[in-house]
Parts: sequence; structure tokens; C-alpha cells
Amino acid sequence: MAPRPIRTALLGAALLLAGCASADPRLAPRLGEHRIGPMRVVILDEGTVDLACQARRPEPGRRYEGCWVPGERTIISRNDVGVLLHELKHALDREWTH
Ligand SMILES: [Zn+2]
Repeated sequence: MAPRPIRTALLGAALLLAGCASADPRLAPRLGEHRIGPMRVVILDEGTVDLACQARRPEPGRRYEGCWVPGERTIISRNDVGVLLHELKHALDREWTH
């Protein structure tokens, strides 16, 4: 787990990426590839994100909105602030389960 100041900075970066968590859809996370510290964050449209996550973590019958892929240090998320923060929590807090 990263030291607290680094984790705080990462969350700050994530919020900037997410347009400060606004409900305004124009400020949703931008599609494409981003970097937050040591992580890669790939924002995909709703149809593609499930395919990308199923390819890495196959779970038939599940429809992914996002996933954390530890082996690639990569978050895949649709362009939604809530989903992105959820996956970020998986990435930063490895012991978190739900
Ligand atoms: Zn989850």
C-alpha cells in the first residue's frame, strides 16, 4: 500500500481526471488512456468496457462497468465518476472487498 501522501495525491489526480466529481456529463472522465502515478487508467465507452474486462477477467453472465487488472496495473472504467472511484479503491486498497 502506498504511503498516505502519495495516496492522497493519487486521489486528487483522479478527481481532476474525473472533472471534480461533477454530475455534469460534459465533465465525465475523458475517453482514452490516462496515467495516474504508477497506474494506467483506460476510459472506454459502455459497450467496450465489458468486452475489455471480460477478456482479462472472464466472468460469464456478468456485465462489467469497470475492472482493476493488477497484473497490468491498469484500471478499465466506463466514463462515469462513480465507477472510476470504485475501481480506484480496488487499486489503492488491495484488501477492500465488497
Ligand atoms: Zn468492485
